[in-house]
Amino acid sequence: MGFAKLSEIVSIAEKEELPFWEVVLRADCQERNVTQTESKSMMREMLDAMRQADSRYNPELRSASGMAGGDGAKLEAFRHKENRLIGDFLTEVMEKAVKMGESNACMRRIVAMPTAGSCGVIPAVLLTYEQQKDAPEDRIVEALYVAGGIGEVIAASASISGAEGGCQAEIGSASAMAAGAVTYLEGGSNEEIVHASALALKNMLGLTCDPVAGLVEVPCIKRNVSGAVNAVVSSQMAIAGIRSAIDPDEVIDSMRRIGKQMPSCLKETGQEGLALTQTAQQIAAHLKEN
Ligand code: SF4
Repeated sequence: MGFAKLSEIVSIAEKEELPFWEVVLRADCQERNVTQTESKSMMREMLDAMRQADSRYNPELRSASGMAGGDGAKLEAFRHKENRLIGDFLTEVMEKAVKMGESNACMRRIVAMPTAGSCGVIPAVLLTYEQQKDAPEDRIVEALYVAGGIGEVIAASASISGAEGGCQAEIGSASAMAAGAVTYLEGGSNEEIVHASALALKNMLGLTCDPVAGLVEVPCIKRNVSGAVNAVVSSQMAIAGIRSAIDPDEVIDSMRRIGKQMPSCLKETGQEGLALTQTAQQIAAHLKEN
């Protein structure tokens, strides 16, 4: 797609009187030399793969380490309880995010969007929206283009890799993408889409990548929940009229600079953070022995 700034997408959208998603779709067609029908059908396949991964969640499965599995079922049971602080939408978002993260840890098929570690964020928000709001498939596909455009800009101007930019680049990027996508679904303007995205990313700046025993399980799975919920609340703030005080493209630039300055011990090397705790060391040693 080749967009390095969110403002580029917004300015084309305004000049050509196109929705945000269509600017991204057209750029995809141009870059990959495909028709709009071909591009959309690829996006539909991705959506289908997300739906299948969600519906085929197996509560009995445990990851090889034993650290992941079964929490999605706990949240599903919790969703049916009445004494919850949060409403149905966010409860299901949490459930779906955990289920997808656990499926990934248990080697099930997922859609890495933008990465396998952050695979729960976007499906949790969009599939919950599709089901609870009875949204037509076309609208969800369009929202995926919105997410894709935001992800493209972050990848071009900063990073979507935990090893390069820390977890802010994985869960943070996914959260920013989901925030923009759900803002579009809620009828948000282009300005609201990019500000929702910026609000979400700002909340994730500086997040370290410190997985226990080098596995994409702890803290990754539960961070997907935070990223997904953060996306929804950031979107709601933007729709309520709140704007990021820092320009959305400048937020992405900050993420790049923070990622570069973050020491390598906090970028997927397992040499600091949660990975260096006594408990994590014991888990790693136990896994090595067995
Ligand atoms: S902690 Fe690291 S491996 Fe886990 S989701 Fe974040 S970036 Fe990915």
